[in-house]
Amino acid sequence: MDATFNPVMSAPTVWHPADAREAYLLKRRFGQQADYVAGGTLLRTEWEAGTRSVSPHWIDLQRVIGLREVFMQAGGLCIGSQVTLGTCRRHPSLANLYPLVGEAIRSTAASSVRNVATLGGNVCSGVGDVLPALLLYDAELEWQDEHGPVAPLPLTEWLELRAADAVDPDRILLTIKLPARADVTGIQQASGVDNSLPSLPRIAVYHKVGRREAFSPSLVTTAVSAEIDAAGCFQQVKIATGGGKAKPARLGALEAWLEGSNADQCRLPDVYERVMEEYRPAGDIFAGESYRRKTAASLITAALWQLLQQTASEGGETLC
Ligand SMILES: Cc1cc2nc3c(=O)[nH]c(=O)nc-3n(C[C@H](O)[C@H](O)[C@H](O)COP(=O)(O)OP(=O)(O)OC[C@H]3O[C@@H](n4cnc5c(N)ncnc54)[C@H](O)[C@@H]3O)c2cc1C
Repeated sequence: MDATFNPVMSAPTVWHPADAREAYLLKRRFGQQADYVAGGTLLRTEWEAGTRSVSPHWIDLQRVIGLREVFMQAGGLCIGSQVTLGTCRRHPSLANLYPLVGEAIRSTAASSVRNVATLGGNVCSGVGDVLPALLLYDAELEWQDEHGPVAPLPLTEWLELRAADAVDPDRILLTIKLPARADVTGIQQASGVDNSLPSLPRIAVYHKVGRREAFSPSLVTTAVSAEIDAAGCFQQVKIATGGGKAKPARLGALEAWLEGSNADQCRLPDVYERVMEEYRPAGDIFAGESYRRKTAASLITAALWQLLQQTASEGGETLC
């Protein structure tokens, strides 16, 4: 273990642990006096905004071995928590198999920030703009505690536990796992209707609405994927929302209502209403709760409408 101490009185002590257990034990030792630092880009904005105080001990995760790799496993794609957003975006497996993650990263900050910011930091913030895309692909998180790596936890469960203040604050995120996709053949596009599966029209879209057109903190984010089977029914419906300080979540009730149902335009007004019921983001000074709900409802309804249009243009019947 090597500590770099800056002689300026108020400067923090920066620790550079070599492995995850050592990092964990350091955090246990210093408790609330310490913060894990990955890229430091979010922490820095919080320090500058005065929403978080600068802790006297920084535990740098960048030198922890094994956290900077992206690799395929039988079960899917594993991304080390210290992999930068820039590296993720350029990774061919991620782009081909999980395109909405790349799409979400593209709309996060600017490339200079993405080359430093990590995927782990985006996840651990609990509100990162990449989270809805990860939720859509049923991501799982592997954590380190004092005994070693613990069994992967579904992202959706971790977000619930975090909201209930029921997570170990000292745990280190090791890996983000994206399970292998049963429906993966032919998924090529980062967004829009995938034409490579003529018999099953499919859509996979990520949207971010911010305070301005680009390089903006998000107000609302949505990720939607679905297909229409040969019988004209919605299948594989997955819908996730996030944005601002809202807890990212899958809209499970809406997904269940749509799954296997007739894919016709008559359903779209109900889709809108059901998003309004199920999605409950908190408002803030930039946008109220009602604006956020209406925006999410419009984006999700529009995504499904786009899918129905595609079906209609291929000769399917989608009108009421
Ligand atoms: C100009 C600018 C624009 C930005 N725009 C966006 C945007 O559009 N969308 C967006 O989502 N974010 C944005 N951000 C915030 C930030 O860049 C991202 O969320 C980024 O992914 C955070 O990663 P990081 O490695 O810098 O995290 P850090 O700042 O190092 O850490 C963030 C939090 O996670 C904890 N943490 C980090 N890694 C781990 C780990 N492995 N285990 C346990 N805890 C950990 C830290 O202790 C800290 O609490 C922006 C930041 C800046 C400066």
